[in-house]
Amino acid sequence: MCEVTSDTSSIRSVAVIGSGLAGLTSAIMLGDSGHRVRVFEKSRGPGGRMASKRVTNGSADIGAQYFTSRNPGFTRFLDRWAGKDSYGIWNARFGFQSPERGWLAFPDEHRFVGMPRMTAITRALSAHVELDAGVRIARMSRDGLQWRLTDFDGKEYTGFDQVVITAPPAQAQDLLESSGLHEFADRLAAHSGNMLPCWAVAAHFADPVQGRFDAMRPASEALFWLANNSSKPGREGAGQWWVLHATPEWTQHRLDDSPDLVARALMAEFAKLTGHQGQATDWVAHRWLYARSDAGDNPGCLYDVSLGIGVAGDWLAGGRVEGAWESANQLIRAMAPDGC
Ligand SMILES: Cc1cc2nc3c(=O)[nH]c(=O)nc-3n(C[C@H](O)[C@H](O)[C@H](O)COP(=O)(O)OP(=O)(O)OC[C@H]3O[C@@H](n4cnc5c(N)ncnc54)[C@H](O)[C@@H]3O)c2cc1C
Repeated sequence: MCEVTSDTSSIRSVAVIGSGLAGLTSAIMLGDSGHRVRVFEKSRGPGGRMASKRVTNGSADIGAQYFTSRNPGFTRFLDRWAGKDSYGIWNARFGFQSPERGWLAFPDEHRFVGMPRMTAITRALSAHVELDAGVRIARMSRDGLQWRLTDFDGKEYTGFDQVVITAPPAQAQDLLESSGLHEFADRLAAHSGNMLPCWAVAAHFADPVQGRFDAMRPASEALFWLANNSSKPGREGAGQWWVLHATPEWTQHRLDDSPDLVARALMAEFAKLTGHQGQATDWVAHRWLYARSDAGDNPGCLYDVSLGIGVAGDWLAGGRVEGAWESANQLIRAMAPDGC
């Protein structure tokens, strides 16, 4: 396996934009090689799409539901930097609905989740980096050989030899466009169109929902996924929190609907699918404009040596959590002057 080249002879100053898994992985790997790294995140905290929302009696994972680790290097990285107690195996019953053959079980596989919530992993990772949260970078400009970043409040951050962008493709493209880097931005255009939206709802039921599965992919026009969040390890509290994800097509037609309308429609579909009679006692809804990539093209990462700008993210490496980590690994190797 290719390892990152340590190049402590030429310490670089690097700005990382975004603190999802790709941004945090990039920052940790660069820092571990001795470089000076500063991470900028537009939201109040780290995590990106590995998101959890605070709800009564705990939290619900409204973004990534679980992740796999087909490359053992991924769990080794998590063990070292996030800690073994920040995540665990979700031993649940997973099923999908085949229109012809009814409900079937998904094949067995280790499926991991953050503990006690998905954001536990990115919180733990972020302890190893210098993070400026609540800072949305608007553009980049060059001072000689170095990069200056400007945020949407006009505040400037200077002196970076390299920049790593880990925003979803449409946002990364906007950033490159507004920095006058049109050719680079054009390379992201096809990827931007491949990101699918998703309405997510977390709903609380006082009585347990009965059924054969804890997590389901139904054959439904409205619901793409439903899962008992309370069946994940470390989630305690009365009743059950269920997470419902709408299909991209259903979401696309309801992008501007109110969260209330969306939640009621998805909960009605949930009742139909599970036969559960109880009304939800509480709920929250969240709209993801860029949830998942359905790109067939997986270059791994993008790096322009002459500019010193790299782009990483799940959408460049097959989508999903592990793809975000793989993409960051590939980019950091590409950025090392000695290669590997
Ligand atoms: C509803 C949903 C369900 C999913 N289910 C699964 C699943 O079950 N399994 C799985 O493996 N994956 C799943 N995924 C995908 C998974 O969440 C992603 O693959 C992964 O989290 C992407 O990480 P990332 O670091 O590439 O991007 P992100 O997590 O999107 O991180 C990008 C970060 O950049 C920040 N940012 C953007 N622009 C700027 C700017 N200008 N300045 C500063 N910061 C900026 C954003 O706020 C964000 O924090 C799901 C995603 C969603 C939304």
